[in-house]
Amino acid sequence: MTTRTPTRPASKSTTFRILAADELAAEGLAFIRAQTDATVDSKPGQNAEELAAIVGDYDGMIVRSGAQVTAKVLTKPGRLKVIARAGVGVDNIDLDAATAAGILVLNSAEASTITTAEHTFALMLGLARHIGAAHHSMVGGQWDRSAFDGRQLAGKTLGIVGFGRIGRTIAQRALAFDMTVVGYDPFINASTMMDGQVRMVEKFTDILPLADILTFHVPLNDQTRGQLNQQTLALCRDDVMIINASRGGVVDEADLVIALDSGKVGGAALDVFENEPLPHEHPLRKHARVLLTPHLGASTVEAQQAVSIDAASSVLEFLRGRSVRGAVNVTGLRLDLDLDPMQACFVDLANRMSRLIDPMITERVSAVTLEISRADLASAATTIERISLIGLLQRHLDVPVNLVNVGHIAEQRGITLRTITTDTGSSRGPDLAIELAADGRRGDVPHRIAGRVFDDMRPRVVEINGYHMDMIPVGCMVLIQNDDRPGMVGLVGSQFGSAEINIADMAISRRDDTALMVLRVDVAPPEAMLESLRRQPGIKKVAMVVLPEESD
Ligand code: NAD
Repeated sequence: MTTRTPTRPASKSTTFRILAADELAAEGLAFIRAQTDATVDSKPGQNAEELAAIVGDYDGMIVRSGAQVTAKVLTKPGRLKVIARAGVGVDNIDLDAATAAGILVLNSAEASTITTAEHTFALMLGLARHIGAAHHSMVGGQWDRSAFDGRQLAGKTLGIVGFGRIGRTIAQRALAFDMTVVGYDPFINASTMMDGQVRMVEKFTDILPLADILTFHVPLNDQTRGQLNQQTLALCRDDVMIINASRGGVVDEADLVIALDSGKVGGAALDVFENEPLPHEHPLRKHARVLLTPHLGASTVEAQQAVSIDAASSVLEFLRGRSVRGAVNVTGLRLDLDLDPMQACFVDLANRMSRLIDPMITERVSAVTLEISRADLASAATTIERISLIGLLQRHLDVPVNLVNVGHIAEQRGITLRTITTDTGSSRGPDLAIELAADGRRGDVPHRIAGRVFDDMRPRVVEINGYHMDMIPVGCMVLIQNDDRPGMVGLVGSQFGSAEINIADMAISRRDDTALMVLRVDVAPPEAMLESLRRQPGIKKVAMVVLPEESD
């Protein structure tokens, strides 16, 4: 796919034409109409052909979830430079097609932060005071005052898992309610937040015994899926209250029902579910101590107004050449800028290396050091640095992390970044090494990955955490750390064999009395198989990551 470099317009006196291709809240349209340098046409409900015929006449387009911005719609982009989604999900926009056409895609995630935090608070109060159940009982004709003894929030400890935008907004409100607030977020390197009012714990398991109420505000990814499950629920306080208004799947629903039945969990309030809509016969629907809402976190009039104004203003800010807010696809657009072919190979290698080491990291990252020992990479150092950080942070954040905002995000999270560029060539060792200090102890380097590119221009990983190897990191990779004893290779081979998963390539390296196997497999193994592998004697760690193919 050929990429057109985004032509970011210079700010000059011109009139920007904006198309609202979905029904936008009136405030968003009014915002644009109030500007002296922009006009807006509201044309909701266009089909693909109709949209394709007109998009090229506009500088910017704003959509919600209705307009389908397919590759066909973008065949003749004309003067279109930016598409903004008034909201979060960009499933209705073909990002590859937009990227190839040099069109920036933006979203407006921040506008729903307060609304979702308030909904979480409503769930917490509703749960603590049995609002839903008491209402139902009165609708049923009863006046039962003894059945609904509630609990007061003041004095209780609220555990916030995921201290991003929504997590912090809840913390502010909980402090005003005289609650004690503790937080856990592996990507915030601080022992306290909010001027010392919120204590941050280092491990997820540390927060569980502290919280009377536990609320989740994390993205759904491999590390957060099933984060609250049978094992972790067992570490919670008896009678704990659980709230999830983040993403379904973060709390294991089957395990939650068991814990509610046993009385371990005192109550649960959920806005999001593993399958939405929640199946009709789901046991959660019938549980007396459960409060449910159908994914209403962002559903307020104010949030709809805010996203429409946010989308309109970010489109105009970009067109005026002033700022890029909420960019979804900048990474792809900027990658090939100003890089010679060898530099481009190293940027690609840095992307692969950071994504490969990422699942091995379970501690809090405090510092990232990049060692580049090739003089010809000096001018690409910033790009390599940012690409490495993106690989390390992207899966853990719900905001799009890209070349434009990654430095700021790292700074906000107290992650320090150091790049050492030397011109000693490759004789001293790897050409590119990424080192991660974790666990808050700067200078300590528990994670290190090193790689190089030879004249064949292929990416190679030559070291992971002290294990030396020569591996081309492409496609689906499985990393297995195990005791270094006979039978381990056979054990792993037979597990993959029984699952009929072909191992395309394998590197094994030994250090002390352990070994690291890095496997390239033809298809991604199901999570259940990886889980079963993790339970085998002698296996210490199993992680999987899917990297781009070489030609991608
Ligand atoms: P955010 O990116 O600002 O914050 C997410 C935080 O989770 C980050 O600080 C990140 O470091 C942290 N995190 C990542 N992995 C973690 C882990 N393993 N353990 C603990 N913390 C981890 O996102 P946000 O805007 O605050 O949104 C939070 C969640 O709420 C997202 O899943 C979002 O999709 C969801 N959301 C739901 C609704 C709704 O309608 N219910 C509305 C808006 C957002």
